[in-house]
Amino acid sequence: MEDEDLDELLDDVERRFCRGGSDATSTGSSARGTAGHVTRRAVKPEQPISSDLADLDALLEDFLDESGGSSLKTQAFPERGEKKPSSQSGGRKCCPVFVGGSSVPSGVGTATSKRSCDQLRCTSCDFRVLTFDDCEWDASCDYLFLRNNVPDRLKLAARLKKRSGSRAFACQCSWFTATEPTDLRGRAGLRWVCGRHRD
Ligand SMILES: [Zn+2]
Ligand SMILES: [Zn+2]
Repeated sequence: MEDEDLDELLDDVERRFCRGGSDATSTGSSARGTAGHVTRRAVKPEQPISSDLADLDALLEDFLDESGGSSLKTQAFPERGEKKPSSQSGGRKCCPVFVGGSSVPSGVGTATSKRSCDQLRCTSCDFRVLTFDDCEWDASCDYLFLRNNVPDRLKLAARLKKRSGSRAFACQCSWFTATEPTDLRGRAGLRWVCGRHRD
């Protein structure tokens, strides 16, 4: 009984976090979905519980940051580890993955919220993807240039041109300039994947 309550509360909190972190356009259906919970729980003092959970999340992130791995997570918080460990404490992934111009907000992309992923990683060269707001790659940018200069942002600037509204992306093997939300599934040459976002 106790555990079930906690599970439901966790779910509620998760939903609230998700909504808070994502675009307003997604509130329509999910708000209806949680309405039942909210009214049913109105009699309970849920504020302290929520903030406790927020603290727990912060604590958990600290642990993860220090340990750099996920093994400690299940030992320190077995009750959370037994639940779906990948869906919450590991962060959220873009699905589908978008890259966008500098006016496109960064964050977790979804089909209804086309945010520009700022946690991209290249599965080909295994480098993190660098981003440069209000820039585009010069036509002279090539593989060798990236090979020699990534991830040195100062050296990379040599082949970036100022262009308001654009956002330039590069790993050590590929480069791309985005002006509007672009679904990476349509870019066969780019082996970039979302490396998870920590809220
Ligand atoms: Zn992402
Ligand atoms: Zn690469």
